[in-house]
Amino acid sequence: LSERLGGVLDKLTRQGALSEADVSTALREVRVALLEADVSLPVARDFVKAVQEKATGQNVTKSVTPGQQVVKIVHDELVHVLAGDTKDIGALKVDSPPAPILMVGLQGGGKTTTTAKLAKHLTEKQGKRVLMASLDTSRPAAMEQLETLGRQINVDTLPIVKGQSPVDIAKRAKQQATLGGYDVFMLDTAGRLSIDDALMAEVAAVRDVAKPHETLLVVDGLTGQDAVNTAENFDSRIGITGVVLTRMDGDGRGGAALSMRAVTGQPIKFVGLGEKMDALEPFHAERVAGRILGMGDIVALVEKAQETIEAEQAERMMKRFQKGQFNMNDLRNQLEQMIKMGGMQGMMGMMPGMGKMAKQIEDAGFDDKILKRQIALIQSMTKKERANPAILQASRKKRIARGAGLEVSELNKLLKMHRQMADMMKKMGKMGKKGLMRQLGG
Ligand code: GDP
Ligand code: MG
Repeated sequence: LSERLGGVLDKLTRQGALSEADVSTALREVRVALLEADVSLPVARDFVKAVQEKATGQNVTKSVTPGQQVVKIVHDELVHVLAGDTKDIGALKVDSPPAPILMVGLQGGGKTTTTAKLAKHLTEKQGKRVLMASLDTSRPAAMEQLETLGRQINVDTLPIVKGQSPVDIAKRAKQQATLGGYDVFMLDTAGRLSIDDALMAEVAAVRDVAKPHETLLVVDGLTGQDAVNTAENFDSRIGITGVVLTRMDGDGRGGAALSMRAVTGQPIKFVGLGEKMDALEPFHAERVAGRILGMGDIVALVEKAQETIEAEQAERMMKRFQKGQFNMNDLRNQLEQMIKMGGMQGMMGMMPGMGKMAKQIEDAGFDDKILKRQIALIQSMTKKERANPAILQASRKKRIARGAGLEVSELNKLLKMHRQMADMMKKMGKMGKKGLMRQLGG
């Protein structure tokens, strides 16, 4: 796909803002990438639409093409959608013992394996005492499968009693967990090959008895379009609190992850990466996003280009300061950077030895609104005034303030700040880079 994007999109090498046409062309390819990754059709369509609105009008970074830029925007949005409320990733509600965890999903999705993997995780990583119970009365040897895994990982399983219903087993598990002082009890339910009413009724009955703190839907990450159907059914009829995607060690592109998020709105908490008991990891949105798009190289390229340009700008500014040059255009650049970088810290972080000044300016009570007013004042100056603010007398000041819709007193404050900054720059310039670092406590 990278190649195809390259072919179509490298023709769009103009700089400047992304036009609607640029975005549409790139997004057609992105949509194909999503579908190839097994994202369900309606989910892919909605996602692309949302990105279209966000991307149009954004600036294209120098040395990347608009197409590449769009891919980066898509990637970031994908990470955003996949990660959601990040604190839920890799975390389970297991604080009030005995905390019930209900495992649901289709047959063969990886419920039993994941139950054991999670039990191991909770035991070893969080020091919990876990009891596992198999409620799978439909498949011969299903209960023994969990028992065997339990022995392997040193986690207790509820003794098998043949002939009990899933609800009865759930009750027994709860009782045993309470009496035995367990922190967590996990209920591994039976699956079906496809969604059916009998299955849903059975799982709902178990849910009502167990009152789970977590209901995890275990889904094969390789399933494509019907993953949505599965998720929709389990979520609406049982109510899930999270998703575990299994078989992410396979060749699949993991598009099911996006579908799951879109349909249930619940966090993807873990991914299964193999049959072994420790092949379980907290979900990484970045990794899965890169995999779904299959365009990791483009994303890295755009990030690199952006970094380079920011570094170049900072370097250029630093050189000017060292020569004692700091006019209104420089100040304006600074103010704009501050807004863009979301405050002083980020901006000053780019320039060596600016920590002290960052603190001073912060203490002066800066926020976006003030910054924008100051930029408006500078914009209202002529070219000559900007290059040499010393020429500003009363009449010019009045005109500038009026032009920005502000008071002269506000302009005076800006000019004072500029003088102070220019002085500081001059001093720093004289010190040279080394002296500067020493002076500023580097
Ligand atoms: P259940 O019917 O939902 O309980 O599914 P099982 O837990 O019995 O798993 C079905 C098969 O999938 C077993 O052979 C597992 O070893 C395998 N499996 C489960 N999770 C993963 C995974 O993350 N990666 C791989 N490669 N295989 C898995
Ligand atoms: Mg099973």
